[in-house]
Amino acid sequence: METALDRRSSNSTKIPYGRQWIDAEDIAAVTEVLKSPWLTTGPRVREFETAFAAHVGSAHAVAISSGTAALHAAMFALGIGPGDEVLVPAMTFVATANCAVFQGGIPIFCDVRSDTLLLDPDILESKITGRTKAIIAVDYCGQPCDYDSINAIASAHGLAVVADAAHSLGGEYRERRVGTLADLNTFSFHPVKHITTGEGGMVATSNAEWARRARIFRNHGITSEARERESGETAAYEMVDLGYNYRLTDFQSALGISQLNKLSRWIDRRRVIAQRYNHAFEQNPLLTPLVVSPDVGHAHHLYVVQLSTKRLGGVRDKVLSALRRGGIGANVHYIPVHLHPFYRDRFRTAPGMCPVAERAYERIISLPIFPQMTDSDIETVISVVTDVLEDYAA
Ligand SMILES: *Cc1c(COP(=O)(O)O)cnc(C)c1O
Repeated sequence: METALDRRSSNSTKIPYGRQWIDAEDIAAVTEVLKSPWLTTGPRVREFETAFAAHVGSAHAVAISSGTAALHAAMFALGIGPGDEVLVPAMTFVATANCAVFQGGIPIFCDVRSDTLLLDPDILESKITGRTKAIIAVDYCGQPCDYDSINAIASAHGLAVVADAAHSLGGEYRERRVGTLADLNTFSFHPVKHITTGEGGMVATSNAEWARRARIFRNHGITSEARERESGETAAYEMVDLGYNYRLTDFQSALGISQLNKLSRWIDRRRVIAQRYNHAFEQNPLLTPLVVSPDVGHAHHLYVVQLSTKRLGGVRDKVLSALRRGGIGANVHYIPVHLHPFYRDRFRTAPGMCPVAERAYERIISLPIFPQMTDSDIETVISVVTDVLEDYAA
């Protein structure tokens, strides 16, 4: 069926669901490093770590090559090993669960709340066994989880808590900043996230020993870095544990420092966009935005709506492709992780294990949200979404 909408926008460029913003300052910062003697781990890495730690209010920050590497380093820091169970929400990106598998651990998928799609603290207790070592909470879309409840359950059972804060840099929970809410807090600087270094990540923690372990993990398990050896008396080094090459380069760190300067402004803009959407959609019976708790400062990495039609049967996919034809780069975050073939084959997961996440998956759509979106982009998204829903979901 070709609609008026298809004809209107078939030749306009798509508004993506997320996009980085690189300015002349960023380019100058990277160029300066490219002309310096240190391309990889040099002075900019430490500067980025210091600036980041100050921004999120954590005692330590360890820069690393990706958000996935940050999660892996967190698992290593906690000593997760073969057979250890790690509780993870079903509604997340695969890396949240994969990091436990990297260390020989077993991800145990937990269901989410239907209104926020955040890890449901009420079901955590029923998933804890003698082999459980940690909980990874995911601040889905940028809304911090209920950390007071999660941390209380964890400490009652002697478990560690990792915040996968890939979506929530710049957010808050009960006046505390994201980066300080869990034992270890991990971030991603992939281009769709709040700030970018191309690829990159960070581990933030108040615990000096975990920070030390994350630091050696990113450098082969070696206790000193090349730059320290060059300036010191000796060329000797020791590998004390099995690590990886997960280093972030100096030019990426320079980009990170420059991007971090803009983070607060960008979060403000994301909040304005989310408010416009909320206002435009609040009376529309065909969709429901996710609920936001009064306890949080939302960082709005994603703007997810759930279709509220009774019948589904593929309606979401029809809406998604109509939105794309209409120039809106809508997306779906995420396929519940336990439904992926890898987990079904290797860990015997199956549909029915996390029914709330599975039902939500049939209904969710991520709409464009990024700081460089113009007011007219916002209006376009609102009008195309409203028309498409009338056509396909009414
Ligand atoms: C992006 C993301 C990651 C992984 O980050 P990369 O930097 O792409 O490795 C992990 N968890 C969540 C929830 C993410 O959105």
